[in-house]
Amino acid sequence: MSDVRRGREFLHTPGPTNIPERVLRAMHKPAVDFTAPPFVEMTRTCFEDMKPIFQTEGPVFMFAANGHGAWEAALSNTLSPGDHILVPETGNFSMKWGMMAESLGLVIEHLPGDWRHGIDPEAVEQLLRDDDEGRIKAVLMVHVDTASGVVSDVPAIRRAIDNANHAALFMVDTIASLACVEFRMDDWGVDVAMAASQKGLMCPPGIGFTACSEKAMHATQSSRLPRNYWDWRERMTDAQYIRFCGTAPIHLLYGLREALDMLAEEGLDNVIARHDRLAGAIRAGVDVWCTEGGMAYNAILPAQRSNSITAIRVPPGHDAERVRTVAREDFQVAMGGGLEQLKGDVFRIGHMGDLNEPMILGAVAGIEATLQQLDVPHGRGGVAAAIDYLVDN
Ligand SMILES: *Cc1c(COP(=O)(O)O)cnc(C)c1O
Repeated sequence: MSDVRRGREFLHTPGPTNIPERVLRAMHKPAVDFTAPPFVEMTRTCFEDMKPIFQTEGPVFMFAANGHGAWEAALSNTLSPGDHILVPETGNFSMKWGMMAESLGLVIEHLPGDWRHGIDPEAVEQLLRDDDEGRIKAVLMVHVDTASGVVSDVPAIRRAIDNANHAALFMVDTIASLACVEFRMDDWGVDVAMAASQKGLMCPPGIGFTACSEKAMHATQSSRLPRNYWDWRERMTDAQYIRFCGTAPIHLLYGLREALDMLAEEGLDNVIARHDRLAGAIRAGVDVWCTEGGMAYNAILPAQRSNSITAIRVPPGHDAERVRTVAREDFQVAMGGGLEQLKGDVFRIGHMGDLNEPMILGAVAGIEATLQQLDVPHGRGGVAAAIDYLVDN
């Protein structure tokens, strides 16, 4: 066969996700004076329209940055050197965020996890009850840990903090859940939520977001971690050059404006229901693969398998990286691999953002073909099961 590729590669990396044609076209514009009224007004609507996506009335800040930038913004704006923070482990992203916090001078109180379960609210409650002196200043939760495919229960962790009568800020990384999985910042009592443009928001990488409660905005007045670029206080202005701490990411904002229009047209509830249905089709296929030969979901409990990404363990003695390479090279389905301790054991199917039924069926088919070609033991018939699921749901 020729090396020339035709058709589209199916992008199922858990970030970046597919960028809709409409968003691509919206960005295909000449540069403009970003301080002139039309662009200032468009930018203002982006800040406003991000609020209902987070389900908050509080301020949203945008940074020319990826998700890691949003992490640093959340920490550096609210905490002081030597503050303790509680880091429940759900996978590589929870660990990496915690390590970043440590490098900024914060002290980690680690709640160990096996990367196969969500956060245990009772364990969080107990750790906070034991903190008589109130040394813990923040709880760092990852809603969907993209490395493990595990979704944790945000309201349950809020209740744990309240039950312990603890004053810690509640920070939630919604980078892989916003506009994919239900998230209600204000109703659920979240103090800082973070997002990035290249996941459920269907944009190129390059905009990081933090949404902030009143309590977080209060904390920022007394927090002493050094910050300049990330400083929320500086960015509370309509002056474009200052609110972005320099040149605004003009074209990303054009793209974001279009993506926000698309989300509004579909309706956030429908977007979330679509993710639920398409993830159900993926899992219907994976269920069948897991019936034979030792393949398994990484997330052990069905209720903790996220609607944005599915992590699948290959049978012992098989190499998930090989599955990933052949799926991409021979069947045009690009997926994520296992990170850190899961490397080689896990491949990850992203199902966030601009996706529909045939794209999902195509991904299940391409992966099943890969398993067959590589003789990875698995139950056959995942594609038929995914079709059945879509017909019935
Ligand atoms: C992708 C992701 C990140 C990191 O985002 P970058 O844009 O790559 O910095 C952090 N947390 C979660 C849950 C993610 O899915």
